[in-house]
Amino acid sequence: MAHLTGGGAPQLGELPPIELGNTTYAVRGQVKDGLDTVEHLAAWLRDLRARLTVPLSDADLQDVTEGDLRHARELRDVIRALAAATVAGHDPAPDTVATLNRHAARAPHWRELRTGPEPHLTVNTAGRPVAAALSALAQAAVALFAGPARHDLRACQGPGCVLYFVRDAPRREWCSGGCGNRARAARHYAKVRGAK
Ligand SMILES: [Zn+2]
Repeated sequence: MAHLTGGGAPQLGELPPIELGNTTYAVRGQVKDGLDTVEHLAAWLRDLRARLTVPLSDADLQDVTEGDLRHARELRDVIRALAAATVAGHDPAPDTVATLNRHAARAPHWRELRTGPEPHLTVNTAGRPVAAALSALAQAAVALFAGPARHDLRACQGPGCVLYFVRDAPRREWCSGGCGNRARAARHYAKVRGAK
């Protein structure tokens, strides 16, 4: 799986549905699509694998399809639309909500008890695991936008940045240290220029 090349989107340790939303990202103010190809999606799922509800094997990642890519991109765009509405304090469009709920219902997964050698749980799926993993991401988005974490959802204030994050400190304004440094440098530059 190491051979898969991703689409360059950062993974910043945010909640998995936010990580999916952040596959639309920007480099020096230019908006980029981190899920442009099936390989990008397979690499993105590989990199987030340890944090996904539905476990994905190497064989599952080799089985990512154009249909999965279409679903992942649609879900990503819906998450971004809901995040934008949430940070702006607006009600989201009803069809955006309906699309999210459709993704959440698309591919069921459930926990099963296993007893060998020790009791443990495993997550099982009715259909293809990749489809179930995307559906589980939609369910995680439902929990995010319905739950208290939505109050801490923020759009990064870094220059040109289009990423979202859940604020874990009261004064946090940036998705990452890199954006914080760029924002401070831009403020400093504006101040120095203003003083002349
Ligand atoms: Zn940022």
